[in-house]
Amino acid sequence: MSAERYDVVFIGSGINSLAGAALLARGGRRVLVLERENRLGGAIWTAEITQPGFVHEVLASWHPLFVGSAAYAELADELHALGLEYLNTELPTGWLGPDGRAAFLTTTHERNVEELEALAPGDGAAWDATVAQFMPNADLSFGVLTTELWSRAGAGLATKAYRRLGRRGLVEFGGNVLVSARDWLTETFDSSSTHGLLAPWVLHTGLGPEAAVSGFMTQVIAVAIELGGMPVPKGGGVKLVDALAGIVRAGGGAFETGRDVEAILVENGKATGVRADDGETIATSRVVANVTPTQLYGRLLAGADLPEAAREAGRRFRYGRAEMQIHFALDEAPSWDGDDRLGQTAVVHLTPGLDGVSRAVNEAERGLLPAEATVVVGQPLAVDPSRAPDGKGILWIQLQELPRRPTGDAAGEIDTRDGAWTDELKERYADRIQARIARHVPNLESALLKRVVLSPTDIERADVNLVGGDIYSGSCALDQNLLWRPRPSLPGHTTPIRGVYHIGASTHPGPGLGAGSGTIVAQALLRENRARLALSGLGRHLG
Ligand SMILES: Cc1cc2nc3c(=O)[nH]c(=O)nc-3n(C[C@H](O)[C@H](O)[C@H](O)COP(=O)(O)OP(=O)(O)OC[C@H]3O[C@@H](n4cnc5c(N)ncnc54)[C@H](O)[C@@H]3O)c2cc1C
Repeated sequence: MSAERYDVVFIGSGINSLAGAALLARGGRRVLVLERENRLGGAIWTAEITQPGFVHEVLASWHPLFVGSAAYAELADELHALGLEYLNTELPTGWLGPDGRAAFLTTTHERNVEELEALAPGDGAAWDATVAQFMPNADLSFGVLTTELWSRAGAGLATKAYRRLGRRGLVEFGGNVLVSARDWLTETFDSSSTHGLLAPWVLHTGLGPEAAVSGFMTQVIAVAIELGGMPVPKGGGVKLVDALAGIVRAGGGAFETGRDVEAILVENGKATGVRADDGETIATSRVVANVTPTQLYGRLLAGADLPEAAREAGRRFRYGRAEMQIHFALDEAPSWDGDDRLGQTAVVHLTPGLDGVSRAVNEAERGLLPAEATVVVGQPLAVDPSRAPDGKGILWIQLQELPRRPTGDAAGEIDTRDGAWTDELKERYADRIQARIARHVPNLESALLKRVVLSPTDIERADVNLVGGDIYSGSCALDQNLLWRPRPSLPGHTTPIRGVYHIGASTHPGPGLGAGSGTIVAQALLRENRARLALSGLGRHLG
């Protein structure tokens, strides 16, 4: 094996690795990032996949989590100097029901209060109260999502909460965290339009509206949208990837793409390096694996001496619903029927409302193609017009309620055969969705230049961590979330092997572009190195 040239080797180049590597490189650590695909970024993939001049986010698109992250707070100046520019909008999200009723959430609190009050007397006041109650403890809510919970920092957060809220207050806070979206929405707001506006956001946390914690997650997202809008990098997510990679390179770090790591090398319970699938080995005592637990324990550490709990965590880690993406390139801007604001809104959800989301989630979880899916209509040009030639249109469509292996169609129209996501199946399902959108966007089909559909199988092919097309790399049900992610038997980011750290969407704080797990581990490694340097300095001094 070659001599150790790198302090830390990352497996995979998703946002968590890129942010973690950038923080470490900036802190003087020599880092290497190994990526099996021929591009960096994992689920951030910007490409002209329909027509030249139409810049699509093939997978992830919206960056509120990154812009609100600890990594961005730390790296923003350098990222901007390297060409990253965030654009934003005052109209981040809206809802459109089948009967043409619509509702919007803006970035101005007073406008939101007015908007919701107009939907049902009292709903505006309820929103005002929601934000007023949320804000004084926002540091605790966001803290849960940015802290290593099984650690001194996690204990510190709990102590802070106890000191501030007292025993009863803490119990109440915890209870409010557990509430489902259905219970929170129906207890708080009267209008079914308000429910329709907020309920679909639960899908973006990997949950359904009846799941524990989904009410808390909906509140966090709704408040975050009001505060932060729907930022995207000008020119696409690739600009963030390039800028983070620039920080790594400037700090002496390196990237190798087309490098599938097949094993983490271990001696005496400690990491000694990694081996790529071409047989080459790279020596290092710190490996940060941005993979699923299935891959970590079932492949990369298959040859290591592991406790049964680790093997079991790898075997029992559950994946969530599958997802599909549809990309439209249009010869003109989509012209929406109804409220003028629809065409300027970054993310519009088409659904009958809370019950519509609930029904589609339930159908997907029972293996069915939903009869009336929640259609997430992303309009990147509403925020960044530079992504298409003047006057043209782009739609980014996301369908988050799909089975990984369909056993039937809730509408009784599509033959799902043996459950495989064939090209025929994805195109037929995309036809149903296209017809739904066309009911509200009458020029969709006449303006259509090209449609590209990615099935759950295509999505996994693009990023091996998205198992079965689960875009969140593992079910976010409570027993695999927060304190218990990735698995109750093995939570957090350390592993039974010394020097091997586990990051990525499968680990706390879960999926999204917040770079939380990469940041938590980078900070821990920077502290560890500081402690080691201090000790060696002391040793020299004493010697
Ligand atoms: C379709 C889609 C839409 C989304 N939309 C949004 C959005 O708008 N906003 C948002 O905040 N989040 C969104 N998400 C979620 C978010 O993108 C992901 O949770 C996040 O990007 C995951 O980052 P990660 O660091 O876990 O790694 P990933 O992005 O999953 O990257 C992991 C990388 O590791 C590589 N890898 C795995 N194993 C190996 C190996 N053995 N050797 C070498 N390389 C390996 C993979 O090839 C991959 O490139 C979306 C996700 C998808 C798929």
